[in-house]
Amino acid sequence: MSMKKKEGILFVVSGASGTGKSTLCRAMLKTFPCLRFSVSHTTRPRRPGDREGRDYYFVSPAEFQKMIDRGDFVEWAEIYENRYGTSKRMLDKARLGGRDLILDIDVQGVRQLRDQKIPGVFVFILPPSLKELKRRLKNRKTEGSEALAERLKKAQAEISRARMYDYWVTNDDLKKAGERLKAVLLAEHCRRERLTELIEKLLIEK
Ligand code: ADP
Ligand code: 5GP
Repeated sequence: MSMKKKEGILFVVSGASGTGKSTLCRAMLKTFPCLRFSVSHTTRPRRPGDREGRDYYFVSPAEFQKMIDRGDFVEWAEIYENRYGTSKRMLDKARLGGRDLILDIDVQGVRQLRDQKIPGVFVFILPPSLKELKRRLKNRKTEGSEALAERLKKAQAEISRARMYDYWVTNDDLKKAGERLKAVLLAEHCRRERLTELIEKLLIEK
């Protein structure tokens, strides 16, 4: 019997800057060997610790524009004066490999995927409070005070878009939040629609 390869899940994680998306995505990648990280293209300058081709593909504004003109992106957005985008190629590669793909993208990107009716699981990560969000951003020391203030100001506007998502995960305690996020992906794998082949097989098995 020919078994069609099952399509992977597009697992989209977003939330205000400093909420803990990158940390949680890393934990997910460690837990699920079949999960791949969707590496975005960006014009943002590299931060210490950023790995080319692992965290992002770092490109010039001109290269990014060329990719937009060619229609290479399934979604892209301008965030804090830099551009970020998910290439169609990234999605196709995961689909062909039957692998789950985890995306760390902002609310504008999610809006575009929703508008195109791209199937996926959309998770919004919430900070326990704005005060704690500020503390985490300060602690991370990746932004100057001006950039930090801007990110905090934007946080509430992003949180107001939370209804676009299927799941809300609060990142109070890191371990608990990680468990919640894992539970979402595991539950999605148990969806009836994903298991119809097995049921059909069980019903005709002699
Ligand atoms: P994002 O990717 O959403 O911008 P990060 O994953 O970089 O956020 O997290 C921001 C900072 O907060 C990091 O220094 C990270 O180590 C820390 N952090 C993440 N989750 C928690 C948590 N549950 N409790 C305390 N600190 C956290
Ligand atoms: P950072 O500069 O801190 O790595 O990311 C800033 C923001 O850009 C985060 O909210 C992250 O989710 C978002 N982001 C990263 N890649 C993409 C992408 O390809 N598309 C969109 N729309 N947002 C992205």
